[in-house]
Amino acid sequence: MYRNTYVEVNIDNLKYNVNKLIKEYSDYKYYFGVVKANCYGHSDKIVKYLVESGINYLAVSSLEEALRIRKMKIKTPILCLEPISLEHIEECVKESITITIHDFSYFENLIKKQYLNKLKVHIKIDSGMGRLGFKNSNEVYEIVEKIRKRDDICLEGIYTHFADNKKIDKQINKFLEVTSLINLKEIPIVHLGKSGTLLNFKKIPFANGIRFGLIMYGYNPNNEYKHTIISKLLKKDFNKPFEYKSAFKLYSEIVQIKKLKKGEKVGYNGNYKAKEDIVIGIVPIGYSDGYMRTNKNSYVVINNKRYQVIGDVSMGMIAVKLDNGVKIYDKVTLIGERISIFEVAYHNHTIIYEIMCLINNNVPRILVEKGKIVDIVEG
Ligand SMILES: *Cc1c(COP(=O)(O)O)cnc(C)c1O
Repeated sequence: MYRNTYVEVNIDNLKYNVNKLIKEYSDYKYYFGVVKANCYGHSDKIVKYLVESGINYLAVSSLEEALRIRKMKIKTPILCLEPISLEHIEECVKESITITIHDFSYFENLIKKQYLNKLKVHIKIDSGMGRLGFKNSNEVYEIVEKIRKRDDICLEGIYTHFADNKKIDKQINKFLEVTSLINLKEIPIVHLGKSGTLLNFKKIPFANGIRFGLIMYGYNPNNEYKHTIISKLLKKDFNKPFEYKSAFKLYSEIVQIKKLKKGEKVGYNGNYKAKEDIVIGIVPIGYSDGYMRTNKNSYVVINNKRYQVIGDVSMGMIAVKLDNGVKIYDKVTLIGERISIFEVAYHNHTIIYEIMCLINNNVPRILVEKGKIVDIVEG
């Protein structure tokens, strides 16, 4: 690591979350850890800790992600949520990666081939998300019947995805309608919920699997960011206390401190002009790291005090307005204590999922367990 800008990932908190989730939702049998997008920006290297804590199925977007996990010698089943092109199915069989069947013509092409080993498949139902999956019960029936005749294909699961945490009843009914011609009990894994579902539904009666995403990383998916800001302003909690612990912190440091005279400017286009004599600090992080330009005028925290980002965010640097309490090489928190990811998301007009995913591989991940660094993941 040649630059002191990094994401610190707290492994203890992640393990705590998984343990707590499995205890709290013990009526399920299959606990999917959604580890797409580099584990929501935390780094794939955390997968082994999730598995150690009880995650017994993994879900990723792409085959690339699945293969990266296999390269780490992790044997846990992996489901690809996105369609995998037919030319790569053999690779899935070889690496024991479960695929999603989302479309009928895709299925018809898939079954044209014989597979050397068992190909595990899950059927995806579109129950109202309007994205991938089947809406037609006859097609689902036909797929089940056709797979029944094959011993190289195993129909291991069926699932759907909810669009709105508060309107899942309607989607559950639609799921039951689309699957009404088949016997759900004959399918080993039925998984319907995601993080937001858990907080509203203790258990979906006919499901035996659940997918943990954001909540596993310690964030409340129901606690929409505006809501958080509003509840903070009113000093009132709308939700019951959230008992999961976040693990993602973004840090950098002050690499130069300088004085500006009244009228002097900062950054591209001189977009900040000092109204009086001020002290500023330069921090080596910028939009090429995924720290967006819209962070202009946002805050960072140094020695437990908040300081404002001034001028335009550059590709690899920002300037911060300081006071005399800051020294060169002081640690700068961009996401963490006193500058929550909710606030950052709010400032950038987005959701916390996006903030975490955008911090890219330019920024190393330092994995910390019991106060000790256990891994440094560089891009
Ligand atoms: C991303 C994803 C999830 C996880 O969503 P969270 O809100 O983070 O829990 C679950 N299921 C599917 C199909 C997804 O694509």
